[in-house]
Amino acid sequence: MNEDKKQAILSAVESHDTVIISRHKRPDGDAVGSTMGLAALLRASFPEKRVFLDNEDHSEYVAFLGDEGPKPSEEDYKNALVIVVDTGTLDRISNPRAVSGDMLVKIDHHIDAKPYGDVSWVEDWRSSACEMIVDFFKTFEDRLTLDRTAATALYAGMVTDSGRFRYDGTGPDTLRLAAVLLERNIDLDRLYAHLYIDDYNVTIFNAKLTEQIQRTEHGVAWLYVDRATRIESGLSLEEASNVVSLMDSIRGSLIWLAFIENDDDSIRVRLRSRFTEVESLARNYHGGGHAQASGATVYSEEEVRALIADADLMLKTYKQSHPEDF
Ligand code: AMP
Repeated sequence: MNEDKKQAILSAVESHDTVIISRHKRPDGDAVGSTMGLAALLRASFPEKRVFLDNEDHSEYVAFLGDEGPKPSEEDYKNALVIVVDTGTLDRISNPRAVSGDMLVKIDHHIDAKPYGDVSWVEDWRSSACEMIVDFFKTFEDRLTLDRTAATALYAGMVTDSGRFRYDGTGPDTLRLAAVLLERNIDLDRLYAHLYIDDYNVTIFNAKLTEQIQRTEHGVAWLYVDRATRIESGLSLEEASNVVSLMDSIRGSLIWLAFIENDDDSIRVRLRSRFTEVESLARNYHGGGHAQASGATVYSEEEVRALIADADLMLKTYKQSHPEDF
């Protein structure tokens, strides 16, 4: 699939001495895994090239994958190939310098609402951007080297973005490509411990928040985490944002929403669904993402209420035409 795009990307790598890799702001496991994994893949395959990662913000959650190393200078950008992974739109790139290289490549699995890049390889049915990087390796395996470091980072992204191979995008190719990574002897016990062991205070916070889950008339489940509650519990924004998963198994709640107050006056929204979609809703509130997992930002209590009301109407309409879904 998209062989011409992949070939164009490999040719671009081959014709540049410097490659700089970036991802989206507020990175998750897939954003970090895919960029770290791609960097390790290119370093092992082209030891003569200079491969940098350049991003403004980082993730505590997957910090165990290692740090990004030295940053490229202005000079490095002049003749560089910049590859942006897992980032739907230019404004979400965690690196304002990404557009200042010699050539820009986009590799992404989000819905392509605002295309960018000299070469753009987008496959929105893929469960993760990491899956695409492994597919890229597999396509050119006679010319590329994938070591255990790359495999671990890519597996971390595949596991987290697919909800441990559970979400909708998980297909036969996902498992075939995951198998390619497992052939590199990843330490799964350690990897899963890093990804899924919580501190005690997080477990207690989740228990308290579970009691606060609200439901709209037609079953939209939602939670609101204010800044004071989060700070009192000693949680990072990232840890608090995970409350969205507390609502993922409630019968009849086919849409669920978590609102998390940021440190400025904005409110992060995490939207999730099964059977139906939430991406169109996210797009109406300064966001986007995937059909069943999107993000958005709102700026007032009124907008919170409006978003919940819109979700409720969407779910009402959906249930009328799909009474069998639960
Ligand atoms: P989150 O709930 O933040 O994990 O987001 C779920 C998915 O939607 C991820 O793949 C994000 O990259 C994407 N996403 C989050 N926020 C936005 C946004 N403001 N615009 C576009 N996509 C987003």
